[in-house]
Amino acid sequence: MENFNSIVKGALIHDIGKLIQRAQPNPSDKKHGQWGYDWLQESKFFEEDALSIRATITHHKDDEDVFTSNYGLIWYESDNLASFERKQEEDNEKGRWDMFTPLASPFFKVRNPNNLTEYAEISYLPVKKSEGVESVSFNKPDITSKDYESIIKGLKNDLELARGYRPYSINLLLMLFEKHLSNVPSITREVMRGREEQLQKHPDISLFNHSKLTAAIAGSMYHFYRETYPDKWNNELLKDEILKPSPDQKPYLLIGGDISGVQRFIYTISSKGALRSLKGRSFYLELLSEHVVSELIEALQLTRCNIIFLGGGHFYILSYNTKSALEAIDKVRKKINDFLFDEFKGSFQLHIDYVPFSKEGLKNAVPVWQGLSRKLEALKKKKWEDRLFDVLKVECQHRDCDTTYCAVCFREDLPLKDLKMVDDIIKLCEPCYNQYALGTELIKVSKSNHPVIYKLPDKPEGDSIKIGDWYYQIKYGWDKDLHKEAKAVYRINDLNAKHYSHDNTIYIPTGIYQHEDLKELSDAFNVYGMNRIAVLRMDVDNLGKIFAEAVPEEDRTFSRMASISKGLNQFFKYHLNDIVEGKDIDSYDIVGRDMKQTGRRLSVVYSGGDDLFIIGHWLDVLEASYDIKRYFEKYTGNSFITISGGIAINHENYPVYQFARDAQESEERAKSGGKNAIGIFTDESLKWVIFEKVIERIRLFKNFLKVEKDHLSIKGNSLPKTFFYRLLALARRFRNDKVLVLPKAAYLISRAKGKPEDILKIKEVIMTSNEQEWKVTEIATLITLMLMRKGGRENA
Ligand SMILES: [Zn+2]
Repeated sequence: MENFNSIVKGALIHDIGKLIQRAQPNPSDKKHGQWGYDWLQESKFFEEDALSIRATITHHKDDEDVFTSNYGLIWYESDNLASFERKQEEDNEKGRWDMFTPLASPFFKVRNPNNLTEYAEISYLPVKKSEGVESVSFNKPDITSKDYESIIKGLKNDLELARGYRPYSINLLLMLFEKHLSNVPSITREVMRGREEQLQKHPDISLFNHSKLTAAIAGSMYHFYRETYPDKWNNELLKDEILKPSPDQKPYLLIGGDISGVQRFIYTISSKGALRSLKGRSFYLELLSEHVVSELIEALQLTRCNIIFLGGGHFYILSYNTKSALEAIDKVRKKINDFLFDEFKGSFQLHIDYVPFSKEGLKNAVPVWQGLSRKLEALKKKKWEDRLFDVLKVECQHRDCDTTYCAVCFREDLPLKDLKMVDDIIKLCEPCYNQYALGTELIKVSKSNHPVIYKLPDKPEGDSIKIGDWYYQIKYGWDKDLHKEAKAVYRINDLNAKHYSHDNTIYIPTGIYQHEDLKELSDAFNVYGMNRIAVLRMDVDNLGKIFAEAVPEEDRTFSRMASISKGLNQFFKYHLNDIVEGKDIDSYDIVGRDMKQTGRRLSVVYSGGDDLFIIGHWLDVLEASYDIKRYFEKYTGNSFITISGGIAINHENYPVYQFARDAQESEERAKSGGKNAIGIFTDESLKWVIFEKVIERIRLFKNFLKVEKDHLSIKGNSLPKTFFYRLLALARRFRNDKVLVLPKAAYLISRAKGKPEDILKIKEVIMTSNEQEWKVTEIATLITLMLMRKGGRENA
């Protein structure tokens, strides 16, 4: 195993020379491999990694040592397999190297899922990652060697900060590569044929994604060849075996995981302590997926480079296909499901399966991915089949708990613990108690602190979460004692190299934003306008189709599919926090409150993969939905990748599962109405473009209104007090009977006082028989009335 780490680390840093070369005044003095090798030698950052750094000069066919050792062969071949997207072109096409070519967005390859002949416009990423939410540009950015110099400087600074932690762990390097190399193209070769072809073949795989996948493949190859050819591995060159495997040999596995029953688990809770329970439960599931992935990685003796995707209750791992690998997977699967069954009595289950594949699967990954999802779907249908006996067994009530049941999940078979709430004591089962405590801890997590999650072998003092044989505990900074004891240290959204002192410090991006004053749902109830809470659910439209069909067949390489899913996950897990907070972005503030100073009063209960669940004050949620949509558009730069959502608005005491169900129904309406829409209030959904008009109309109304501290009121005598109620009545009349009651409309307008142009505009939208205009007016009026209403718990 001692060579394993060197081979993987070597594969991870093999192309670092590309970065160095592009910052040089005379880049062609040396090959990129040599630039990298010399830089690594000089910087002395990698002194302890003598074997690894040879990968920089031992991964090309014209490099000296490639064909003289098995690790040379692995570096060479894993680099090839990770870059299938460029292989086909290199041999038969003319091209030229332009060192300052920008990286194209990984999403630009996605065609219109409803019309596959329609291609998206090409968009580019800035070479240096921006501080805030990333957005693409449709103009090719100018890149110079100075930009590369500055990237190297950033990377060097971080390596310097962590100099004391050498040899650098693969986990630290992965975080730093993600931080600095996510927008650096892995190649800078431009195809010289017609413009169309040039655009379609523009580099779109980042140096980070390429390096990570190369390392994942190299790690898998190491295990596969060592186990498959045990006698030869140490004594012979496995040249043909590695470079020319027979087409039916399947050295690789794509392992997939999927948690079923999540919906029920998260949302079927009572209203008591809803926010903390929700947050705790949803984060518990994140920890659970993380836990399982790390168990698998460890059992397979792989690294986190092999995690292709992790989010939204799903994960994919690239592994090797040997007998010992399959045994390791089975063992983890059994262990975790035993635990889940005991802990949650089958309310949710983790499905793990895998598909073996040949190197062809790295060229066209779709069949591999589809094969795996079919297998996982089939597993879901056989829920707990092997445990029917246990499921059907009549549960004896625990003798401590008499006839009471858990106030959150209604289980009766566990002893109950008292939980003190503000003015109430409720009884909870142990798992619910722990999840509530976890939710309470998460409330303290904000952008300003650096929460740490320690994975510990023994139960620590204070609240912790037990998964399998391990305990997870949240702290708000470094804890000397826990640090020593910890098996792993998780850093949430934290890219500070200094914080990676533990060998197994792991970066996890997580959608976790919550307003600091939002401790209970009631804190978001009485904020602005009418007292109401809202839930927003959203996800990407046509995701299955996007993966299966929308990327042209010749472009469906493993690295591209991984880049696209990684990109989506990054949006929902990482960028979402800034977007919904609304402070540091150009956010929507419909009525002009001081929201930009205070941040939005809402909580991201869950976000990852391609979907999210947010709960909070209704206006904050409404505004956030549109900001998410706008930033998603800027982020992908591809108008074919759309997003739809549903909003449910109700009282603070409305049951959470009902909120969840209502929002889901709204979302389904938005989807069935052609997608790219939001479902709210009405029985139909609003296309986003119409939603934007609604906002404009509210702004028009606002010219007649005054912004008070916590609601809108009529400005002087600009409008009669009953104006909006009457307007709403007119709008509803129009919707139901398709009749415009002209005299009433004219009368309404005649009483408005204000700027002539505002009155003219109002007249235009009221004296119309355009159905869409009335729909916009109806919803804008409703929202305006909600903004004007202060206090009162009765229905609108
Ligand atoms: Zn419970």
